[in-house]
Amino acid sequence: MDVATDVRQVRLGDRPLIVCDIDEVVLEFISPFTAFLRSHSYDLLPRSFRLHGNIVSQHDGSELERATVDSLEEAFFASQDLWQKPAEEAVETLQMLSTDADIVFLTAMPPRHHGIRRKLLDQLDLSFDMIATEEPKGPVVARLHDRRDLPVAFIDDMQRNLLSVGEHVPECLLVTMMANPDFKPFAPAPTGSIVAASGWGHAHELVRAHFSVKPTRIANPAA
Ligand SMILES: [Mg+2]
Repeated sequence: MDVATDVRQVRLGDRPLIVCDIDEVVLEFISPFTAFLRSHSYDLLPRSFRLHGNIVSQHDGSELERATVDSLEEAFFASQDLWQKPAEEAVETLQMLSTDADIVFLTAMPPRHHGIRRKLLDQLDLSFDMIATEEPKGPVVARLHDRRDLPVAFIDDMQRNLLSVGEHVPECLLVTMMANPDFKPFAPAPTGSIVAASGWGHAHELVRAHFSVKPTRIANPAA
């Protein structure tokens, strides 16, 4: 069993489940990644909702090649403990929620960086289970939740992840949230049942409200 990617490592209690992304949700990503880029004479410009095409040389403003961006991102993840900090109110809100719910981190970071991220989260007193996988998130949340008759919530900054979870776990509360204020205006408007949270205080209210109502089980035609 691979400790980084396998959902079987997670032992859930008989209580609600919160599955939570890391980058831009629990830890700041864009702000520290920008600081990292500047330390290498590059910059990340908030011009659209993407990294590629917006990372430029500070010398001549030229856009970086995809392969260079990928290698910078790799170097950033490998030294993330020196750069990344918790998003505002993330730590205390997750601690409060964890008194009544299981929390599982689901990060799309390459699994090879699981160890350093685990260490950083532990240092921040965020010792909740973490799965690092580049697979679509919907099937992973479905395997975790396993159709239990308990409320489930998913928090992420990327619409494709939220839509994937909505497709595979229709009863799940879908919350979109993003720490970085400069890129937030470029985020796609939430579609379907996705709810936007202004920050962790708001996300806390949304999750609590969802957990206080009995989940309506979507009929499974195969059952
Ligand atoms: Mg993210």
